[in-house]
Amino acid sequence: MDEYLLEVHNVKKHFPVTRGVFKRVIGHVKAVDGVSFSIRAGETFSLVGESGCGKTTIGNLIVRALRPDSGEILFRHNGQVVDLADLSDRELKTQGIRRAMQMIFQDPFSSLNPRMRVLDVVGEPLIVNEIAKGKALEDRVRQLLGQVGLKQQYLKRYPHAFSGGQRQRIGLARALALNPSLIVADEPVSALDVSIQAQILNLLQDLQEAFQLTYLFISHDLSVVEHISDRVAVMYVGKIVELAETDALFRQPQHPYTEALLSAVPRSDPEGKKERIILSGEVADPADPPSGCAFHPRCPYQMDLCVSEEPNLQETEPGRFVSCHRTEELHLTGVELAQMG
Ligand code: SF4
Repeated sequence: MDEYLLEVHNVKKHFPVTRGVFKRVIGHVKAVDGVSFSIRAGETFSLVGESGCGKTTIGNLIVRALRPDSGEILFRHNGQVVDLADLSDRELKTQGIRRAMQMIFQDPFSSLNPRMRVLDVVGEPLIVNEIAKGKALEDRVRQLLGQVGLKQQYLKRYPHAFSGGQRQRIGLARALALNPSLIVADEPVSALDVSIQAQILNLLQDLQEAFQLTYLFISHDLSVVEHISDRVAVMYVGKIVELAETDALFRQPQHPYTEALLSAVPRSDPEGKKERIILSGEVADPADPPSGCAFHPRCPYQMDLCVSEEPNLQETEPGRFVSCHRTEELHLTGVELAQMG
């Protein structure tokens, strides 16, 4: 894995569904069902899909908040490749891997402890890992605040004194405190106003450049993903259905689900040509997915084979993967990439 920081191979995570006082297992929610992808060092790789598709579970598996049922999660750390799926919690800590992977969350309002000052919130990882205390700690927190565009005099304030965008900056400063190589960002801007979203996305890009960060970016919002990603994987019911460079995926989607998601991306469209594809039916239940292609009950292009046989994720051109029986014959509609500042 020369060029990759992270390689995920056929990872599965199924959660048991129980019933009654004896908690009899009556089925499994296949939250992540055989997912594979790789992330290059310095890249932003995005996972998109509707809620319940498994993207957040993947983030939790990678930072090992959850342990996978099977599969490999190979992570390059200090010149070695380790399988995160195999390591114990203790090994993750003693080998410094917990420090190398940090997570930022959707809701800056609830992810910060309201009783802790900014100094304590941002400095906590440094204290817990015995990296700094006293004056050195305060200096490092001031430096981190500067890096995320916050004034140093905010040090003694509590989170409630800040706006949503500022709180997300505090969350970012905390994530940066231990010099991570990988940041898993789970819907980091979806709780923010659109105008603030762009500021945080730009900040994420600036920090990536300054500190050679690698991002796994998780979002339901393709217009956000477009702005920040090098490559995008689209998920549906626990599986990746399309994976491609951002530009190729947006201009020429090869999976009908991607096409439908793209049709909902807001665009200035003076000629009114773009029609939104309204998907009929509910998102499939991961505890009881449809036969064949899980997307078939909602797919405008379905045929008999789609109901009976599950398509495999296949490489249709170098670096591009799609799982659809009709990839070669369909000519799907994409969107032009937006010019964003
Ligand atoms: Fe649609 Fe069939 Fe392709 Fe599934 S395999 S996305 S149902 S055309």
